[in-house]
Amino acid sequence: MRIARFSYQDTIRYGIVDEGELVVLNGDPLFAGFDTTGERVPLGDVALLAPVIPRSKIVCVGRNYRDHAAELGNDVPTAPLLFFKPNTSVIGPGDAIVLPPQSERVDFEGELAAVIGRVAKNVSADDALDYVFGYTIGNDVTARDLQKTDGQWARAKGFDTFCPLGPAIETEFDPTSDALLTTRRNGEVAQQAPISDMIFPLADVIAYASAAFTLLPGDVILTGTPAGVGPFVSGDVVEVEIAGLGILRNTARDAVAG
Ligand code: ZN
Repeated sequence: MRIARFSYQDTIRYGIVDEGELVVLNGDPLFAGFDTTGERVPLGDVALLAPVIPRSKIVCVGRNYRDHAAELGNDVPTAPLLFFKPNTSVIGPGDAIVLPPQSERVDFEGELAAVIGRVAKNVSADDALDYVFGYTIGNDVTARDLQKTDGQWARAKGFDTFCPLGPAIETEFDPTSDALLTTRRNGEVAQQAPISDMIFPLADVIAYASAAFTLLPGDVILTGTPAGVGPFVSGDVVEVEIAGLGILRNTARDAVAG
């Protein structure tokens, strides 16, 4: 099942994608289930929004693909390297990534994203995927220069618009598969790897994270990025595609002064 959050006639709602249409739901399926209104809306008539706005946190894994750790000159971590992005960084498909004047190099990082569906604390890796509601695509946009100079990554990865999510949540996706992740800048392939190249699989990340802090419904986990990260500038189009999840497309623009 593919679930989208969308704006139609000035109202934001959720729907299940069904043959070019959205079956409109009563409320947020993460909290209200799959009760339908009976209304159907053509997909082409809506604006898709970020499929989830995390109420609590976005948990990210750094250096979770061997080749990416190497390209930035980092050792391969011996345990998941966790950090957070603020929920205020989330934007949806088609929204503009705003390049902040404080940075001279902003990079894309295409990533598999998991949306947590149940309260998770101290869950085992064996059970961890039972706590996932579904899967989408994320772009862990990073001000690479500030990441190096700041020490902590909160600012470099936390600017407004630095977490595009979408285009929809797929509940049937298998995160242990070798689905191909591809990132394109202006149509040119920059990153390409199967998600099975992750050093710490999603289940291990959830177990490790939930041993430290409680994961809440609507929290998002970004699972790390493969090699090939690179900068983009105003006007560039960045697309992240994961087979089975669709394409997340955003255009960059400079911040408007004032
Ligand atoms: Zn990342």
